[in-house]
Amino acid sequence: MTTQSILIVEDEKDIREILAFNLKREGFSVLEAGDGRRALELATEKKPDLILLDLMLPVLDGLSVSRSLQHDPATAAVPVIMITAKGEEVDRIVGLELGAADYVTKPISVREVILRIRSVLRRRSVPGETAPLCCGDIRLDAADHAVRVAGVPVALTVTEFRLLEDLLRNKGKVRSRAQLLDAVWGFSFEGYARTVDTHIRRLRSKLGDSAERIETVRGIGYRAGEDGDAAGRGPELPGRDYGEHSLPTGYGEASGLGPERPGGGSGGFIPPIESGDASGETEV
Ligand code: CA
Repeated sequence: MTTQSILIVEDEKDIREILAFNLKREGFSVLEAGDGRRALELATEKKPDLILLDLMLPVLDGLSVSRSLQHDPATAAVPVIMITAKGEEVDRIVGLELGAADYVTKPISVREVILRIRSVLRRRSVPGETAPLCCGDIRLDAADHAVRVAGVPVALTVTEFRLLEDLLRNKGKVRSRAQLLDAVWGFSFEGYARTVDTHIRRLRSKLGDSAERIETVRGIGYRAGEDGDAAGRGPELPGRDYGEHSLPTGYGEASGLGPERPGGGSGGFIPPIESGDASGETEV
């Protein structure tokens, strides 16, 4: 297995050094940046496999760094794990909407950071599922992390890529927002349903004419489909209004995200982080 490289972006030297020390011990090669501008330089030059990005940074803050990374086709596909201070709910949601693959909160647990890095890197490469996925003019190559529309490469963020990948793997099936959250972010949580919509909107805007392949299934979620899917089934599919017959059997029970659930989607609710602070592990 080739060595995977992690770029640590953190201005607090102590934290950066502890992370660097532990990541090296885990077999990663490590790059370090103490401010946002240096982070962008290293990301472009060295193409790390993953970036650990603190939000509070001098020169250029973490969210600006994240935006720049995503707008540059050379770095858009590099997954970012954000480091936020405890209680920065808004930043966390903004971070996820900006396409961060995950986040950790300060005071950070080194063990948790390593678990999350491994989890993000694992999600990125699913062995044995490397056949290209196609839908109309869209072609997604998981092995190369490449998407083409009518042969033209499209630069997607990691999050957009995973969303599209999940929809294409389940082509013709309705995917609820809860299912998409679980598949793409690794958790399913009501307050984040809006996050899915935000990323779908961005994904569609990058797909051009092929955006129509990603259908909205009102009140439920999304589905990737061919023209032929609807046309072939004839007149019983009334236009864009998808009837109940188009849903998988037993769908209602499977989804935690009913349409217009009372009190639902209130937002600001943060999913619990699995590894608690109580385990006595190293915190920095
Ligand atoms: Ca900082």
